[in-house]
Amino acid sequence: RNETSLTSAPTGMGAARGEPLVVLSDVNKHFGDLHVLKDISLSVTRGEVVVVIGPSGSGKSTLCRAINRLEPIDNGTITIDGKELPAEGKELARLRADVGMVFQSFNLFAHKTILDNVMLGPVKAKGIKPAEAKQRAMTLLERVGVANQAAKYPAQLSGGQQQRVAIARALAMQPKVMLFDEPTSALDPEMITEVLDVMTSLARDGMTMVVVTHEMGFARKAADRVIFMDAGQIVEESTPDEFFTNPRSARAQDFLSKLL
Ligand code: ADP
Ligand code: MG
Repeated sequence: RNETSLTSAPTGMGAARGEPLVVLSDVNKHFGDLHVLKDISLSVTRGEVVVVIGPSGSGKSTLCRAINRLEPIDNGTITIDGKELPAEGKELARLRADVGMVFQSFNLFAHKTILDNVMLGPVKAKGIKPAEAKQRAMTLLERVGVANQAAKYPAQLSGGQQQRVAIARALAMQPKVMLFDEPTSALDPEMITEVLDVMTSLARDGMTMVVVTHEMGFARKAADRVIFMDAGQIVEESTPDEFFTNPRSARAQDFLSKLL
């Protein structure tokens, strides 16, 4: 790993590459009568890129949010690097810091500069000294290609630039896994590539990633595994090659046929 690596999480601790890092066992979740996650079991190994695909309303966002307990679950277990996520408390906050999230909407602090957006988490939540946090933030902004915007405010940046800042901000916390929930869905077409390129580079650097996306080109290129969800269930799990050339389930076949 070189110094400019996007993934700065220490690799000497916890699971080695190829060992389970995020493990969900029999996770269930209801919204009232609606059963949105049905016995979800899923294991993501360190360094793996899992792309989650499925129709709108199939539970993809709920799954992402459940992984760091932004969404409480009814039953089942979720472990990150061998530690079960508790429902609340200090331990939850600490474990949650291991999970970086990037959403469809950029969620940057509007009244803070780009640099502050990336620095603040490490300073406030991790007690990193401001000078060091600033240096790290600038390195990350450099890597996502927006270092020259550091003094600006989010509204002064394009959507693609803001989303790249959001990725840098999540990385600044040195997460063990990054979750992306449709990170390019709100972007103008010409900005999608610049964000996907950053994500591809992150994947190549060995970051463990769970990515919900409709960008099938990215899924084909970057995914180690594709998961197809429908109606709260994991219907199909395969390599991108298998999934796109020979989907097994009727539901996946139907979904893919509508994309063309
Ligand atoms: P996806 O991301 O695949 O489109 P979601 O996880 O957002 O799906 O939603 C799964 C189902 O749960 C949908 O039917 C959605 O309407 C419902 N849902 C999501 N969030 C809530 C909520 N906070 N309250 C009630 N229903 C919800
Ligand atoms: Mg969603």
